[in-house]
Amino acid sequence: MLQRALRLRLGPYLSGRGLGTYRGGSTLDWDGKVSEIKKKIQSIFPGGAWSPLYDTSHLPPERSDVVIVGGGVLGLSVAYWLKRLEKQRGAIRVLVVERDHTYAQASTVLSVGGIRQQFSLPENVQLSLFSAEFLRNINEYLAVVDDPPLDLQFNPSGYLLLASEEGAAIMESNVKMQRKEGAKVCLMSPEQLQKKFPWISTEGVALASYGLENEGWFDPWCLLQGLRRKLQSMGVLFCQGEVTRFISSSSHMETGSGEQVTLKRIHEVHVKMDRSQEFQPVECAIVVNAAGAWSGQIAELAGVGNGPPGTMQGTRLPVEPRKRYVYLWHCPQGPGLEAPLVADPSGAYFRREGLGNNYLGGCSPTEEEEPDPGNLEVDYDFFQEKVWPRLAQRVPAFETLKVRSAWAGYYDYNTFDQNGVVGPHPLVVNMYFATGFSGHGLQQAPAVGRAVAEMVLEGHFQTINLSPFLFSRFYFGEKAQEHCIL
Ligand SMILES: Cc1cc2nc3c(=O)[nH]c(=O)nc-3n(C[C@H](O)[C@H](O)[C@H](O)COP(=O)(O)OP(=O)(O)OC[C@H]3O[C@@H](n4cnc5c(N)ncnc54)[C@H](O)[C@@H]3O)c2cc1C
Repeated sequence: MLQRALRLRLGPYLSGRGLGTYRGGSTLDWDGKVSEIKKKIQSIFPGGAWSPLYDTSHLPPERSDVVIVGGGVLGLSVAYWLKRLEKQRGAIRVLVVERDHTYAQASTVLSVGGIRQQFSLPENVQLSLFSAEFLRNINEYLAVVDDPPLDLQFNPSGYLLLASEEGAAIMESNVKMQRKEGAKVCLMSPEQLQKKFPWISTEGVALASYGLENEGWFDPWCLLQGLRRKLQSMGVLFCQGEVTRFISSSSHMETGSGEQVTLKRIHEVHVKMDRSQEFQPVECAIVVNAAGAWSGQIAELAGVGNGPPGTMQGTRLPVEPRKRYVYLWHCPQGPGLEAPLVADPSGAYFRREGLGNNYLGGCSPTEEEEPDPGNLEVDYDFFQEKVWPRLAQRVPAFETLKVRSAWAGYYDYNTFDQNGVVGPHPLVVNMYFATGFSGHGLQQAPAVGRAVAEMVLEGHFQTINLSPFLFSRFYFGEKAQEHCIL
């Protein structure tokens, strides 16, 4: 409370701090002012080493044009593109609120870092093509003067998707669409497959598709840190705290079909500071919900879904945490350096990890097998019973593998159509979404960040038309179903 009271009394100085950062994108002028004020106070109260000014660098500003909830790869990408596309340098103040700067549970750092072009929806192919270009030129996009270049540890390698008789026709039409969008993907018969990858058993495989360009895997932590470093140089503000509440105003209107709806506008975001019971209010014009697996909860806080069932008001954001295991194993007899990322029709997948005969992989559980998302403990029996038999059937050499370690992470799982949610909410008019990518959000973050920034700044998508990914589809029941989910 004392801290808040002081903040109120020192309001003019603190807003001076805000303006300093606002104009120049740097906190140097503020630091200078603080030491000037401290000197002045000490000269008025001689002998007093007591300093009434708290170090407020950990506090969020009182105002920010945009508040981004979640400092994972999607939140940071939105921040990057907002600053990059702003009309005048320093025109927009952007604050990223992240509750855990160690990212212990964030999907971004617990992912397996893959990028592919092989999706069933053209929008997803376009997003990944854009991101591939971004990653290839990362040191042009994220260069910071006097800092060393980033090394994403990019490992170029095609994804090898296998289809059974049942899935072959769909695979063929997917590949046709992917090529039309500009992706380089080839189809292989079981005979061709056997010739190129002699360690694979082609039993039950009718067709395979293999990426020839723009696919592989990289270090997600490096991308996250590269974005963060760049954002700091662009004047984006960061704050460690948890968004716990939104203060909004409401107005009522009637739709063309006679439905009464309440429009909401968020004015203030409450940020609960780390290891404190206090919260700091931040006035804002726009809120971006980039809270990953927790974005459903953030939407609820803003009143999304808080209305009668079957109405737009009662339509919730269908994104929830789903626990996924990644197992790491050693197998000297395994496929070796030539192994691409292989996705089996059974749902199991694996790829090489490093150069020492190590591999990683897993398998998404069925709805009935979904583990409790309450913690990130690993179930080793799941590997034994569900993953290993499938791997060994596809690659007989994996009979001899030995599991070395494992981890679990959360998919930001969209239960409606396993696809991203991008753009504004129709009723909470200043909340924008960048979430719900259900296992492919890392690779699409560079493009999605740009799409959200375009929506915020221009009111429409410019680079890639992501209208099928708008929130309103949940109300209208229009699925943008992505079938190629690993
Ligand atoms: C095992 C696994 C493998 C994957 N493999 C791939 C892959 O190969 N390729 C790919 O493209 N994608 C992959 N993904 C998916 C990808 O990791 C996610 O789609 C993507 O990282 C989502 O990014 P995000 O920024 O939305 O989420 P996150 O990285 O989870 O960031 C969200 C952040 O919001 C913060 N937050 C939540 N609530 C609040 C709050 N109230 N206040 C403040 N902060 C809050 C959280 O602390 C978190 O840091 C994988 C995911 C998993 C789990």
